[in-house]
Amino acid sequence: MRTVSTQLESYVAGSWFRGTDGGEPVLDAVTGDEVTRVSSHGLDFAALVTHAREVGGPAVRQLTFHERATLLKELALHLGGLKDDFYAVSLRTGATRRDSMVDIDGGIGTLFSYASKGKRELPNDTIVLDGAAEPLGKGGTFLGQHLYTSRPGVAVQINAFNFPVWGMLEKLAPAFLAGLPSIVKPGSQTAYLTETVVRQIIASGILPAGSLQLVCGSAGTLLDELGEQDSVAFTGSAHTAAILREHPAVLHRGVRLGVEADSLNCSILGPDVTAADPEFDLFVKGVVTEMTVKAGQKCTAIRRVIVPEPIADAVVDAIGARLSRITVGDPADQSVRMGALASLGQRDEVRKAIEALRTSAEIVYGDPAHVDVVGADAERGAFLSPVLLRARPGAAEPHEVEPFGPVSTVLTYGSVDGSVQEAVELAARGKGSLVASLVTHDAQVAREVARGLAPWHGRLLILDRDDAAESTGHGSPLPMLVHGGPGRAGGGEELGGIRAVLHHMQRTAVQGSPDMLTAITGRWTTGSRRVLDGVHPFRKSLAELRIGDTIETASRTVTLDDIDHFAEFTGDTFYAHTDPEAAAANPFFGGIVAHGYLVVSLAAGLFVDPDPGPVLANFGVDHLRFLTPVKAGDTIRVSLTVKQLTPRSSADYGEVRWDATVTNQDDEQVATYDVLTLVAKDRR
Ligand code: NDP
Repeated sequence: MRTVSTQLESYVAGSWFRGTDGGEPVLDAVTGDEVTRVSSHGLDFAALVTHAREVGGPAVRQLTFHERATLLKELALHLGGLKDDFYAVSLRTGATRRDSMVDIDGGIGTLFSYASKGKRELPNDTIVLDGAAEPLGKGGTFLGQHLYTSRPGVAVQINAFNFPVWGMLEKLAPAFLAGLPSIVKPGSQTAYLTETVVRQIIASGILPAGSLQLVCGSAGTLLDELGEQDSVAFTGSAHTAAILREHPAVLHRGVRLGVEADSLNCSILGPDVTAADPEFDLFVKGVVTEMTVKAGQKCTAIRRVIVPEPIADAVVDAIGARLSRITVGDPADQSVRMGALASLGQRDEVRKAIEALRTSAEIVYGDPAHVDVVGADAERGAFLSPVLLRARPGAAEPHEVEPFGPVSTVLTYGSVDGSVQEAVELAARGKGSLVASLVTHDAQVAREVARGLAPWHGRLLILDRDDAAESTGHGSPLPMLVHGGPGRAGGGEELGGIRAVLHHMQRTAVQGSPDMLTAITGRWTTGSRRVLDGVHPFRKSLAELRIGDTIETASRTVTLDDIDHFAEFTGDTFYAHTDPEAAAANPFFGGIVAHGYLVVSLAAGLFVDPDPGPVLANFGVDHLRFLTPVKAGDTIRVSLTVKQLTPRSSADYGEVRWDATVTNQDDEQVATYDVLTLVAKDRR
């Protein structure tokens, strides 16, 4: 078994720091032996924050999004090669191999996902534009453009004990992409696994100095050091969340606080499902998985099992039968399906929560006081049997008490009229949750329930026989989907792809002339100066092209023969292009018009420079709009202007976005769009 240092250290301003008071013992969840000690006593929190602000932040912000994404990928690959070490340490938290995969592989997978999204969805720049420029004056000389910039602040990430790796990496990745240095403060109970991973990250030298620091032990006066450009992302109990919400840094100094706290998630069985349907098994399996993975210590676990009254007995029996096959014990033992809770203290908390639930519910499976375990001592380790309860009608406690362990309560709906509305109302009594599942094969039920549940949840899983094989399950937050929920769940929002990056950045509306906006954004803004230097821009390499480089084409008159030919050649004989009488009756055209795609094709014929050169390919168009119909006899021409240049760091070419504007003989805009091409970095 991999050893952990006798006392955990924090990583502060480029050095490892050991708390000066000997620390508090942290016990092995399985054996009860001391794993290590933890303390942040004597840590210089001011130096920690100053280092992040003055060293880490500038180092990250001088990189483009693509460069940051490249480092995240490198880090993911590096950590992936060390997984076995992390698994070995993870065993001591009570985690089985499957639990560790959720935490460790899940965390590394999140890094990969953000690395890929950062490259594909963010520009190779340090700012992000939000939407198109808004014209603010009739003459086109005054516009507004929203843009996101990195804050010169610090991202403090306070994590719960249950996901020592994923919890860190899922917060670190978007913050890093956003240009922020992170200060990570793991839950003390499992901080030894986080510390193990951070040591490897620091030793790898992949992340810029100061961009990641670690606090093992109490957060001390960390928040006192924070100010208006800083943020705190917190995962943990509602109690601690309330303390943080009232901290002067949050109340008076504008520190942004994101909270992911308690959540009484539910799974609802649709009224259409019978015990013979595949959805019945999917439902039961989902509940048992959520009760037992990480021994139910997941913020997304199903706490409330909401089922139609007539089928409740069958559901209880089926869940009980499956739970009886769950072997509890030493997670290192291959036969064990559920390990220990993170600590004896947590077990006490869960037992107390079960007692509270028993006020309005009966235990129908499991005994909170006793569990048979494999390969361990049931009392020295923090073991607990899965416990299923069944609530009495009108029960309040299941909607209030969060048993943070392998515990769920069955509630029933529809005893009166079979209405699913009652199920929605029960779900809403949780006062806002991270996730809900609905298991149904009835599209009408799905529509009604999903629309009712959505305002109360951050994520919904609609499960049936059609998506089950590919479903990622109820309890798995995914990097590309929002994680967080309203109300009791904390009101925070993490992940969700690039959304989470933008949450960390400042959105500003910048007003000015087109030329000023072009200079500020580095992206050509409609109405700015166009540069005509006599060289066709298709003859210029990526290195030679400049924002604003333009080709004004010759003009071409569109004939009826062109339209007929295009209709016949492509098979697009829509009446507006082929039937004069019917076209005359069309409210928009009043006669034969050219196909929009003919206009775009003729435009390409006007602007391309045909010989081999730096332009390698046309990979699409964006935002295509046909604004004025083109009739036979109209004369069109094109303005094509370099709008954005995005060199790819891993290729000898990059992307060029061109503004294409097609106008007619009266200078009316006929079509506008962005042409997307790949252009070689050097002239060939
Ligand atoms: P806590 O809220 O006690 O701790 C969460 C994190 O906050 C830990 O890193 C903790 O540090 C830190 N912390 C505690 N007090 C402060 C403070 N005053 N200022 C700054 N940071 C602080 O939750 P736990 O992790 O101990 O879990 C307790 C309960 O929280 C669980 O039983 C469960 O009900 C709930 N929980 C909910 C989760 C969710 O996502 N919904 C996830 C995990 C837990 P330290 O560990 O050093 O005390």
